[in-house]
Amino acid sequence: MLKIHCPQCKRSFLWTDEMPIQDKCPNPDCRWQYDVHDELKKNLNPQEKHEAHKKMLCPLCQQEIASRLCVCPGCHYIVAGKRTFRKSSLFLAVCLVLIMLSLIFKYSG
Ligand SMILES: [Zn+2]
Ligand SMILES: [Zn+2]
Repeated sequence: MLKIHCPQCKRSFLWTDEMPIQDKCPNPDCRWQYDVHDELKKNLNPQEKHEAHKKMLCPLCQQEIASRLCVCPGCHYIVAGKRTFRKSSLFLAVCLVLIMLSLIFKYSG
């Protein structure tokens, strides 16, 4: 059994196994031809579309995020691809880089 929604008369009807695969809409005023294969495809497609437009989620708290590299609005961690960083740890990393650079300049100059 399959519920088919007619786009012409805007009525739904139930298709059963005894009915032909392709036939006219049961509404006598309507000339729309249904095709069970098409209807089955329609039933499947929304899920596929949903998968294709899957939103990006924070790997830590599953909150929706705008891009692959941003600060998560949910947990306020820095999201970089599939990794998350705490803001403080990034701050530490930046500090370390600055210290390294200052050392390099000190010894090279
Ligand atoms: Zn119809
Ligand atoms: Zn998060």
